[in-house]
Amino acid sequence: MSRLFNEKDVENNALAQSRVAVLGYGSQGRAQALNLSDSGLDVQLGLRPDGRSWDQAVEDGWSPRTVKDAVTDADVVVVLVPDMSQPALFRDEVQPNLKPGALLLFAHGFNVHYDLLEPGGDVDVALVAPKAPGQRVRQEYENDRGVPALLAVHQDATGQAHARALSYAHAVGSTRAGVLETSFAEETETDLFGEQAVLCGGVTELVVAGFETLVDAGYNPDVAYFECLHELKLIVDLLHEGGLARMHRFVSDTASFGDVTRGPKVVDDHVRARLKSVLAEIQSGAFAAEWREEHDEGSPKLRSLLSDDLSHPIERVGQRLRQRMPWLKEAS
Ligand code: NAD
Ligand code: MG
Repeated sequence: MSRLFNEKDVENNALAQSRVAVLGYGSQGRAQALNLSDSGLDVQLGLRPDGRSWDQAVEDGWSPRTVKDAVTDADVVVVLVPDMSQPALFRDEVQPNLKPGALLLFAHGFNVHYDLLEPGGDVDVALVAPKAPGQRVRQEYENDRGVPALLAVHQDATGQAHARALSYAHAVGSTRAGVLETSFAEETETDLFGEQAVLCGGVTELVVAGFETLVDAGYNPDVAYFECLHELKLIVDLLHEGGLARMHRFVSDTASFGDVTRGPKVVDDHVRARLKSVLAEIQSGAFAAEWREEHDEGSPKLRSLLSDDLSHPIERVGQRLRQRMPWLKEAS
């Protein structure tokens, strides 16, 4: 078992007198910058002057600076721009202005792990990845709680990398919930695998395949939508709140019996073999190389496959049915 750090493990002065530059003011950037500032750290935002986040930041009361200016003065630089934008931004504006001994922090290990970005040897490189979207990171902090985070150290030039990263996680609110030690490789590979095989790729394909199976067999698409997509939320909420046990407590005996006898027939040895091959492509770097190349070409494949996904009949059925469920709009 790897270590779980709590509030009492934090060395309070590891970030005292440190100036933190947060680059990017999107989902994570906004939430983390506001939490750090409320925790008493000296925070500067480094943004693109022509970007939309600049105006949002000013509206929130910040005086944003350019990336170059924010980095020049910073002891800690937190890279919270989109993963695919990080290598160029790092090469052009961060690296040339980074103080020796600074701590370079990421919220996802992708670029460092796949060598798409190479920090010099004189800085600390670490990862603090809150396990929630930015909105939740901020909301929990405001409620005197925090979301759990992963922490990893890639390079320790000063001997202070771990203590400083943990202090950072503390200021974001995450030691209130627990900070779990990991490595850049483990965080990156498990994150990619989760979103590809289970969370985004796996679940949506299963939903659509289930819907198609019912519709092809002659059932009403509206009924198929409710069974295969709409009700997923109920089950996911139960799993999220209390694991498999809580789900089984709340569904019928018939559903439980169907689950344990039919589930393994759907996710059989063939599917497990393909899960392994998806993981192998992540581990070898093949997925990262493919995505980097796709992004550099302007993402034609992503756009075309997404447009196929979004023109599937399940989307039209869903749009129509959701209009009659006004409470769904209130959630967004
Ligand atoms: P985002 O898309 O919400 O925000 C990105 C921000 O960067 C915006 O403010 C944008 O204006 C700015 N930006 C984009 N390109 C830029 C450039 N070239 N120079 C300067 N600024 C630029 O991004 P996000 O989802 O917050 O992701 C940031 C990092 O956090 C990523 O590494 C991501 O993997 C990680 N992460 C995200 C989440 C999440 O829930 N969104 C969770 C954990 C980790
Ligand atoms: Mg899909």
